[in-house]
Amino acid sequence: MLDVCLLGTAGMMPLPYRWLTSLMARYNGSSLLIDCGEGTQIAMKEKGWSAKPIDTICFTHYHADHISGLPGLLLTMGNAERTEPVAMIGPKGLERVVTALRTIAPELPFEIHYKELSQPVEHVVEQGCHITAFRVNHNVPCYGYAIEIPRAGQFQVERAKELGIPINCWNRLQKGETVTLEGKAYTPDMVLGAPRKGIKVAYCTDTRPVASITENARNADLLIIEGMYAEKEKAAKAKQYKHMTFYEAAEIARDAEVSEMWLTHFSPSLVHAEEYMGEVRSIFPAAKLGKDGKTMELDFK
Ligand SMILES: [Zn+2]
Ligand SMILES: [Zn+2]
Repeated sequence: MLDVCLLGTAGMMPLPYRWLTSLMARYNGSSLLIDCGEGTQIAMKEKGWSAKPIDTICFTHYHADHISGLPGLLLTMGNAERTEPVAMIGPKGLERVVTALRTIAPELPFEIHYKELSQPVEHVVEQGCHITAFRVNHNVPCYGYAIEIPRAGQFQVERAKELGIPINCWNRLQKGETVTLEGKAYTPDMVLGAPRKGIKVAYCTDTRPVASITENARNADLLIIEGMYAEKEKAAKAKQYKHMTFYEAAEIARDAEVSEMWLTHFSPSLVHAEEYMGEVRSIFPAAKLGKDGKTMELDFK
């Protein structure tokens, strides 16, 4: 099961009852965080989710509303006596930016491993999560992320019996491992059917609508996407500052054929966002407004 929580829904600055946009996901005892603006660790505390098991931190880009909460979060993880390394993923410049922020958090009991992104699309596997980073179009280098938990094909018992594969290998073969026993190698493809649909969550904020979002969010169970502006008269502003409107986000969700969409990264000036949702749902019916702390548990179908 993949457990996701949209910790906050604000863009630009945190407001009372609206923390900055950030996503936390938990899978198999490991946590992953995307973006860490000012106050993200308070939102985490409010939700009751611990910072200590965060093994992976992904950054969309290095505007303050997406990263300025990092030094405090790292100190909290250090205070919790975390010693395992933390993997960080983000656009080029990651190590330089994080090292600069760490001037105020220099002593940590764990190492940080950096993965800097430079290609239009990159794949990384961390703690069983398959992460796809895809470049989007903001006024600084910026990436969206798709997180997938793949699901192996069904174990074919009759086939395993026919091939005479010892029962004590079955469990490991089901997990996708190759097993060698008494000089014989058994591979998963011998006993597994075609891969089944896994779990997929896509997260994308601070961008104009571009094809890479549709391509990489395709068939996601959940798409969390920025809706900086809802008011029709702000469409030009969205273009100028390289953000999106609710309607542009809904068109992407529709074209990518995702199961559900949550809007987030709201402009501080946006109030009564619900008033605009009728029109958003006429474009994409499974559209929802993101809410701070909104959670979803995703299981294999
Ligand atoms: Zn932002
Ligand atoms: Zn930005």
